[in-house]
Amino acid sequence: MSAEHRVGDIVDDYCTRCKSVMNHSVVSVVDGQPARTECRTCYSAHKYRNARGGKGQPGSKRDLFDEVLDKMGPLGHR
Ligand SMILES: [Zn+2]
Repeated sequence: MSAEHRVGDIVDDYCTRCKSVMNHSVVSVVDGQPARTECRTCYSAHKYRNARGGKGQPGSKRDLFDEVLDKMGPLGHR
């Protein structure tokens, strides 16, 4: 996988509102991968899911945890 994406690219992704894989515009990119996409059909934006339906993805909770850690910054103890 060497394809890099840019903001404004059209990608296939799973839309939770349409409940199927639809065309999405990329609205934000991290490391050449879409981070957020916007459904071209219902215009709802969400995290890029790699066009998967997404039951039991172990990564998603950890992402959120990392975000929280980033916001908290270094705790100083340890
Ligand atoms: Zn949609």
